[in-house]
Amino acid sequence: MQTLTFPGPQFDPKNVYDAVVVGSGAAGGMAAHVLTSQGMKVLLLEAGKQLDTTKELKSMEWPYDHPRRGEMPSGYHALGLNEYNVRNPPYAKDSKYTHVESYVQGWGGPDYSKNIVVDEKDHPYTGTKYAWVRARCVGGKTNIWGRLALRLSDYDFKAKSHDGYGEDWPISYADIAPYYDKVDLYLGVSGHKENLPYLPDGIFQRPIKLTASELKLRAGLAKMGRVLTPYRAGVTTDGLKHNKYRSRCFGRGACDRRVGGCDIHAAFDSPTGLIRPAADTGNLTLRPNSVVFEVTVDTDTGKARGVHFKDAESGEVYEARARVVILAASTLESARLLLLSKSRQHPNGIGNSSGHVGHNFCEHVMGPGINGLVKDLVGKPRTNDDGRPGSFYVARFRNLGDKQSNFIRGYGFEGSSGTTMFPGNAFETPGFGPSYKKTVRDYAGAFIGMGAFGEVLPRYENAVSIDPDVKDRWGVPVLKFDYRFGDNEKKMAEDMAHTAREMFEASGIEVVSVNREVLREGWSIHELGTSRMGNDPKTSVLNQFQQSHDVKNLFVVDGSSHVSASCQNPTWTIMALCWRSCDYLADEFRKGNV
Ligand SMILES: Cc1cc2nc3c(=O)[nH]c(=O)nc-3n(C[C@H](O)[C@H](O)[C@H](O)COP(=O)(O)OP(=O)(O)OC[C@H]3O[C@@H](n4cnc5c(N)ncnc54)[C@H](O)[C@@H]3O)c2cc1C
Ligand code: SF4
Repeated sequence: MQTLTFPGPQFDPKNVYDAVVVGSGAAGGMAAHVLTSQGMKVLLLEAGKQLDTTKELKSMEWPYDHPRRGEMPSGYHALGLNEYNVRNPPYAKDSKYTHVESYVQGWGGPDYSKNIVVDEKDHPYTGTKYAWVRARCVGGKTNIWGRLALRLSDYDFKAKSHDGYGEDWPISYADIAPYYDKVDLYLGVSGHKENLPYLPDGIFQRPIKLTASELKLRAGLAKMGRVLTPYRAGVTTDGLKHNKYRSRCFGRGACDRRVGGCDIHAAFDSPTGLIRPAADTGNLTLRPNSVVFEVTVDTDTGKARGVHFKDAESGEVYEARARVVILAASTLESARLLLLSKSRQHPNGIGNSSGHVGHNFCEHVMGPGINGLVKDLVGKPRTNDDGRPGSFYVARFRNLGDKQSNFIRGYGFEGSSGTTMFPGNAFETPGFGPSYKKTVRDYAGAFIGMGAFGEVLPRYENAVSIDPDVKDRWGVPVLKFDYRFGDNEKKMAEDMAHTAREMFEASGIEVVSVNREVLREGWSIHELGTSRMGNDPKTSVLNQFQQSHDVKNLFVVDGSSHVSASCQNPTWTIMALCWRSCDYLADEFRKGNV
């Protein structure tokens, strides 16, 4: 594979760019791709470093080739669930460790992602307990994301019309469907068509093969009118002729590392999927190490003038001037920037005349799940189930045709099974010696498990604001959380545990354990909603094209624009919406309307 350095023009403070994009993850990468391909000159500012992930991720390295079998060096610490539950943020305060990282660094193979996930010592936050996972480097969280690439449907976009809660989105599925198609074709997604109105199909590449236990569960669920489908992975399984920076998936097993990423970039990541092709147009200037801390304002017009940023290494401050400012720093970081950008014209923060910036914060609730044993598979020969970039997904089935008496909205399950490089059951199997090894081998392929992801309702009182007393390593005031799960989430979580058992039993799978515990707020890494879209400028921040109601040349193209969380993972929707908004923006730009 080619290494990932980005040659190209250097940032020129005297230049006025057509657009400045803040953040280079899924949203910022997509904005850079769409705008540069339409001839606009784009400056992409990224707070983190430029890492060569082709070298960093080492997806082919076996545990025994690594001095610590993939573990981080001493001095590094991954926060555990108990720390999030017992202590209050900032979680790294007074820690004895040199580096403190979020809980995902406690998963297998964290040494490969330790430079991607942020050090909590440099990036504190305050307020209510919240497990906030961030990645600061070119590509952001897309370098290590789980790749479940799902579409939303009108059950999500028009959820208020369905159950009366919250707000409908200002778009419907028909508006975004052509853009989901564009994302599928440009980036590649693997999946199997199911014709479900509540989980629309994409334009799929070769699906992931289900294991014997997954086929058994699929058949059991079919009898209940529920659907288990192969993991819809944002991974190119057939290859992409138009992108020379990405290989097709060779199923080499490193996906088992979970946050390990993919060093041949079969799994979508923003640097190879979007930014590198944008750079090839000659219209992109990428500047890493650029910590943006405010949107600057033209004092005559009140429009955005550009952004102020600090060089992450030298501390030097610059203004980047542009005709259009596009925030794509991730849901909570974009809210932080809007709130930090106070001026005479925008005393509550830019784009915040509604007072809704930072509010209506929503995500997914996780925790309840199940483990089971398919007895027929005990002692059967091993199958090669490594190298599947995901296993299976059980689509939502609650509150579609039915109406639950104690909660609204729904949830889906992500699950896995199969014989993999390291048999996970080895940890729980008692004993030692040859009989222990035989038991581990005999049972390795017989276990199957799944865990739920449920919709958290957007509520005005769930919010982030600026903490005036605490600053990050670069002197920028940090976010303060005021966010808690509510009654609907708790009731839904009880139902998740109940239906998980019901589905395993109906499929003839022996239940080994059922987990009812709800994980800490934030665990899903799917923060959404802090600058929601809408038709009414009094109750929303952005219009249907993610354009600020107050400031016509300001766009916020990440998950902060989402009106509700749905229960489907958000990244494919973030990119489809961003593509749609940037098409609109490029058109308005040509007409001189922004
Ligand atoms: C382990 C893991 C598993 C996941 N699994 C899935 C999944 O299966 N399916 C799914 O849909 N989603 C998943 N996600 C979530 C997914 O990664 C995010 O939805 C997606 O990356 C959001 O894109 P974004 O551009 O909004 O933010 P990011 O990808 O976080 O990118 C934001 C970028 O902005 C930069 N930035 C922030 N502040 C500033 C600033 N002030 N100045 C300049 N730059 C700034 C950051 O450094 C970062 O590079 C997962 C995430 C993780 C970490
Ligand atoms: S299994 Fe496929 S997506 Fe996963 S690391 Fe290997 S090549 Fe990449």
